[in-house]
Amino acid sequence: ESALARIDALDSELNSFISIDREAALQDAKTADARIASGDAGPLTGIPIAHKDIFCTRNLRTSCGSRMLDDFIPPYDATVVERLRSAGAVLIGKTNMDEFAMGSSNENSFYGPCKNPWDRKRVPGGSSGGSAAAVAAGLVAAATGTDTGGSIRQPAAFCGITGLKPTYGLVSRLGMIAYASSLDQGGPMARSAEDCALLLEAMAGHDVRDSTSINRPPENYRAQLQQSLEGLRIGIPKEYFGEGLDSSVARIIEDALTEYEAMGATLQEISLPRTALSIPAYYVIAPAEASTNLSRYDGVRYGHRCNSPKDLEDLYTRSREEGFGGEVQRRILVGTYALSSGYYDAYYKKAQQVRRLIAGDFASAFESVDVIAGPTTPGVAFELGSKTSDPTAMYLEDIYTLSVNLAGLPAMSLPAGFSDGLPVGLQLIGQHFDEARLLAAAHQFQ
Ligand code: GLN
Repeated sequence: ESALARIDALDSELNSFISIDREAALQDAKTADARIASGDAGPLTGIPIAHKDIFCTRNLRTSCGSRMLDDFIPPYDATVVERLRSAGAVLIGKTNMDEFAMGSSNENSFYGPCKNPWDRKRVPGGSSGGSAAAVAAGLVAAATGTDTGGSIRQPAAFCGITGLKPTYGLVSRLGMIAYASSLDQGGPMARSAEDCALLLEAMAGHDVRDSTSINRPPENYRAQLQQSLEGLRIGIPKEYFGEGLDSSVARIIEDALTEYEAMGATLQEISLPRTALSIPAYYVIAPAEASTNLSRYDGVRYGHRCNSPKDLEDLYTRSREEGFGGEVQRRILVGTYALSSGYYDAYYKKAQQVRRLIAGDFASAFESVDVIAGPTTPGVAFELGSKTSDPTAMYLEDIYTLSVNLAGLPAMSLPAGFSDGLPVGLQLIGQHFDEARLLAAAHQFQ
């Protein structure tokens, strides 16, 4: 009830939710009360959470921020939704996002932009902007997000919360609407690393219905939050502190690193020489995968269908033209071009080769360090509308986050301080399946 009341008071302005299911939430809360009363409560029983509107929820609209799916009511729950439900979390609603998770500011949503709770003239980041804003404004205790190229970490940084992008394959993608399947990964967004650990324990785990899900024994992340940071070797990539980084963000990150030294960590400069290439590589691979994934929206099987089509061709064309927004259409065009015969080798294959080199750069860096640290974003949350007319300027925002997805690594963003009243995020990048160490490092900083 208090979550719903706070949403009523604040969300008409923030616009962090797309759908809310009051009745179901109150019903689930009653069930949670009963479990608590009977002594059968888990750590998430009765905790109000929200899901990014990319996760399928049974009987609750799942729009993916798109007109295309404006009336789509899934017949099943995503694995992540199912797992958090059975852990006792109470689903309050579905959060705003860039259409099909394509964007870095939440301004590509069919439902209008979400606002940053710290300054409502600014973006909350994207694409999981609604989840970040809802957690930052205290509307829900925690939320889920997805991160294809930074969409958990960047909005977490802009809204002053903690977000974790897990190792590719740790969290099931079943029922998570596909953007770029080899990069997409769901994860927790919460007020602290401890809360992220709690959520991740419920979310992670093998799923036979996702062929890229990894079969590993479950971990107790909370039990490892106090692991010693003495002797932790932190790599500082020099490419993350170069041109384009706001000087006050740089200062806050440097102060945070000094704190880690005081906790017993050692700092070492490293190089990730292909950082700049992550932008062109990602913005070929992600649209290529998107163009194939989004071919399923044809006006026949799911979602929007145009009125009175003349023939099948007209049905496809107009349904897609009306259903998809401008950025989604741009990505489909770019991706289709990069995959077409004659261009495939020059663009898609080349981008995949660069991706392999980027993964290799991380692997060599991790020969001498345990974690890598730097800023999550080059600057603080920017003003609404300031980058919408220039897609390339928007893509450049992702410079510090994209390579992590290309390499499939886990990474977090945690609040490091404020610049002129706006939150700054510190990014920690780990080796595959090193979530426990990242969470411990974040927890002890907090
Ligand atoms: N900003 C990036 C993009 O638009 C990343 C989005 C994401 O991680 N979903 O593709």
